[in-house]
Amino acid sequence: MSQPPGSSGMKSPEKTQQTSTDPVLQSATAERNRLLAEMAEQSTDMISRHTPDDWRFIYVSPAVTHLLGYSVAEIVGMSAYELYHPDDVEDFKRRSPSVSYERGLYTHTYRFRCKDGHYTWLESTSRSIRDPQSDELKEILVVSRDVSQRINAEQANRRLARVLEHSSDLVAFVTPDHRVSQLNEAARGALGLEVSGHDPLQLKMLFTPESYSLLQQQAFPEAHDQGSWRGEAEMYSRINQQAIPVMLEVLAHRTLDNRLEYFSTVARDMTAIKQAEAKQQQYQQEIDHAARLITMGEMATGLAHEINQPLTAVVNYVRGIQRRMQTDRESVLDDIEVPLERIGNTALRAGEIVHRMMDFTRKSDPKWELLELNPLVNDLIGFCASAAKRHNVVLENGLPVDIAAVYADRIQLEQILLNLLLNGIEACHRAEHRTPLKVWLEASMGKADQVIISVLDQGPGLSVEDPEQLFEQFFTTKADGLGMGLAISRTLIERHGGQLQAENNAEGGAKFSFILSTTGA
Ligand code: ADP
Repeated sequence: MSQPPGSSGMKSPEKTQQTSTDPVLQSATAERNRLLAEMAEQSTDMISRHTPDDWRFIYVSPAVTHLLGYSVAEIVGMSAYELYHPDDVEDFKRRSPSVSYERGLYTHTYRFRCKDGHYTWLESTSRSIRDPQSDELKEILVVSRDVSQRINAEQANRRLARVLEHSSDLVAFVTPDHRVSQLNEAARGALGLEVSGHDPLQLKMLFTPESYSLLQQQAFPEAHDQGSWRGEAEMYSRINQQAIPVMLEVLAHRTLDNRLEYFSTVARDMTAIKQAEAKQQQYQQEIDHAARLITMGEMATGLAHEINQPLTAVVNYVRGIQRRMQTDRESVLDDIEVPLERIGNTALRAGEIVHRMMDFTRKSDPKWELLELNPLVNDLIGFCASAAKRHNVVLENGLPVDIAAVYADRIQLEQILLNLLLNGIEACHRAEHRTPLKVWLEASMGKADQVIISVLDQGPGLSVEDPEQLFEQFFTTKADGLGMGLAISRTLIERHGGQLQAENNAEGGAKFSFILSTTGA
């Protein structure tokens, strides 16, 4: 590093090194020094000269204003030690004099205080200038540049690398030809693999064969084209020879000139979540099943009556034929067709009731589908007919004929409506000779894609001040009540994305409403 003398205070130490009497040589040297001085004045790097003992600024180029905010006049005369970051001073004092300057050039990176008080990172190359005759250290020439952007980026990268290394997600860096160049701690631990320099790890060792082909055929091509891919996959653990279900994110990283540099895969272990989901599903199925058994139990008397009716009818038909056979065996053959058909149909009806009961109490996974409400409601009203008759209640379907189909699980929706209808029927119970009260259903369109369904009755209305109380488990006002019907119905509605609400109807009686979606979104 040579120094530009001959201008604005840049006294040349080299002058002392290059004393010449040759006028041509002298003028060439003068010209070179002038150019160097001009370069120093215009350089975006800060060029400065310092006293060797306390590093006072003897000269500084105008770049100081841009870099540190000081004017040249302000900083000349100040010691650089005043501006070092307190944490860097000791290190600088320790390293600089003896070791570096004796060898001439010295580069280091440190924090320097700007005029506004904040610290910026500078990278400086310093050179000692000595008297050629006495070898006495005369001054120090320094070229400095602002490297805060680079240092901040490096610090951010180091922080990110630490976060990645300690993340609980399984992270891998993968070259475009599917070699794994790095695995974070979580990935090494979960997969039982290490990345070593001489034995490159192939990506396929990290995944099950099915998931590896998914990566090859879909994830990597999509990440290549669109920057990223996300989906479910299975990694393979060598620790227990088992697949690990993961939610996987593949990212493509490109160089500044847009060349694909590498992929990274970030996998979230879903084992615990999957296990909890499976458990929850099983548990839920048991609850659903139990809930339906409870409803069935509540309906048992009515159903027994319903099945008994066709069976009695069948017996009556058969008895009638038998009697005819005893008196007039010949003519029976001519008239037997109609009674036989009735026997068959009646027995089928009884069979249907039994099937429905079995359907309703069967254990099954929810099946989401678009359901037409009117046929479903009519069917349920038929199902509750005997209960309604026993309680002297009239059931009505007040749904608009063109009400939109809803997205729901049939059995669960039947379960909810059945609970609400039976509650309404029980609330409207009246002695047989009195005018029957009514339980009915209504439906209307809510906000976009929503159907509001209500079950209303002409009973006494809610007996509690806060309707929420009714939804508490085991809350009942009935002598033989279980207090589970509304709690279960609310859970089922929540699984459909809705809320079951109870209120008193303005004209008397209770009203239970919920919203279902027509799209399942
Ligand atoms: P259960 O019917 O076994 O009592 P539910 O959870 O179905 O259990 O109902 C809880 C309580 O809510 C009932 O005991 C009753 O007090 C009240 N309730 C439910 N439906 C109605 C209704 N339609 N009218 C008035 N009260 C009702």
